[in-house]
Amino acid sequence: PATSNLTSPLSSGPIPAAFLAAAAELLGPEGLTADHERIAPWLTDWRGRYHGRADWLASPASTEQVAALISLCAAHRVALVPQGGNTSMVGGATPPADGSALLVSLRRMNRIRALDAAAGTAVAEAGVVLETLHDAAGAAGWRFPLSLGAKGSATIGGLCATNAGGTQVLRFGTMGALVLGLEAVLPDGSVLNGLTPLRKDNRGPDLRQLLIGAEGTLGIITAATLRLVPQPAATATAWAGLASPQDALTLLRRLEAAGLAVESFELIPAESLALVLDHLPGARAPLSGDHRWHALIEATGDAEGGAEGGAGVADALQAALAAALGDGLIGDAVPAASSAQAAAFWRIRESVSAAEKAAGPAVQHDISVPVAAMPDFMIAAAEAAERAFPGTHASGFGHLGDGNVHFHVRAPANAPADWVARQGPAVSDFVYDLVTAAGGSISAEHGIGQMKRDVFARLGDPVRLAMLRAVKQALDPLGLMNPGKLVPLASPPAAP
Ligand code: FAD
Repeated sequence: PATSNLTSPLSSGPIPAAFLAAAAELLGPEGLTADHERIAPWLTDWRGRYHGRADWLASPASTEQVAALISLCAAHRVALVPQGGNTSMVGGATPPADGSALLVSLRRMNRIRALDAAAGTAVAEAGVVLETLHDAAGAAGWRFPLSLGAKGSATIGGLCATNAGGTQVLRFGTMGALVLGLEAVLPDGSVLNGLTPLRKDNRGPDLRQLLIGAEGTLGIITAATLRLVPQPAATATAWAGLASPQDALTLLRRLEAAGLAVESFELIPAESLALVLDHLPGARAPLSGDHRWHALIEATGDAEGGAEGGAGVADALQAALAAALGDGLIGDAVPAASSAQAAAFWRIRESVSAAEKAAGPAVQHDISVPVAAMPDFMIAAAEAAERAFPGTHASGFGHLGDGNVHFHVRAPANAPADWVARQGPAVSDFVYDLVTAAGGSISAEHGIGQMKRDVFARLGDPVRLAMLRAVKQALDPLGLMNPGKLVPLASPPAAP
């Protein structure tokens, strides 16, 4: 496949003065800055692994300004890096180190243009922060059913560009399933006006899905029409102790078969729970007794005596858990007796990453395999990784019902400080080879960015990689958009 557009069609020198003069006139002092203090916080990724350089930060305030800016970039051959809340887990929004790209923040485009309370839709600009949308939807009696730990910073544009997941995917799908329409500026400066909230539109393939998950390599998303869902009458939360991930998946299927609308089913191994209890002041184990695995379960539905006068979701969940306890599928379970207790359960779940980080260095992987295969995979992969890298401890936690776990390989005790830097690539290659052999994905929800670009080139299906390159070539022949991310630079290795 042709790769010339990806191998550096742009000059890598400083951004041309003629471009900067035209951009300054277009954007004004609020919209273009070289002030290092304003730019510096946006040059390092959230995990602190990648440091880029950008001498200029552009902050357009409207779709028209984005379109005019990209046209200027195309005319002057200036590469650009779109950025929202900069919470990417894969270095996706960090500019290249040579300062050759313009950093383009969408954070000033932060208006909710419309919220249709009759239709249950919202039109949000790219820079709207997820939590702001949650609040606005809630105030109108609706709910935007996607949430994640970075909700106070992550933006609608970034969530679309990474096709983000989170803790409610089980019921509502990833971001792509919640986007009804999209407005985006393509690499030639033209505007795709696709904000229509049509539920059905079969005029050829669904082009908005091309931009969802493209990580800013095919255009800049400026706004999205989003699907809202009604607020549930009641939410029931429970914690269960189990012997194995296999039992956990059986439990999930039973809850679903019992008619429960399960929104979240998060799996946590005992050792991760122990780390959280050490790490979180005041945190208490939800269950007494020893359980090898734990599940945090949340379902929504009627309140007691609701629509049909029947039992509410809390009773239904409790009955299903009691039945599972009765036949030994689970070791114990406790329902959250109040919203405060439910919040305490969630605080434990959301602190697993931070507690593991505090406990010492680890190599982290965001992986998926087919849901039914995940329980066995988790156990086998952990044993294999611990055998291959003696002294390490491997385990997975997270979205079992989506077939997606965060699989961490913790460094041996007393490992040198640079253990992750030295051993990380070998550990990750080992894990990704297992994932690929199991028919899984090396990136379940965080994307490829720059962190996984080369391993994607190594392990990706050659046909898939060639299609991605062909799309990139067609839409961005100058290679302007987010250079060095997602699409591997070199040709993929020949198929074995
Ligand atoms: P950025 O980080 O700024 O950018 C991300 C990518 O999108 C970059 O490639 C960037 O170039 C591109 N981009 C940004 N805005 C635009 C735009 N307007 N148009 C085109 N391209 C654009 N992710 C999950 O899926 N599930 C989780 O549960 C989850 N939990 C997280 C928890 C924490 C604590 C953190 C820090 C991150 C988590 N993430 C999770 C990852 C992260 O929140 C998502 O990747 C998020 O979607 C990024 O949004 P952002 O606005 O910060 O985008």
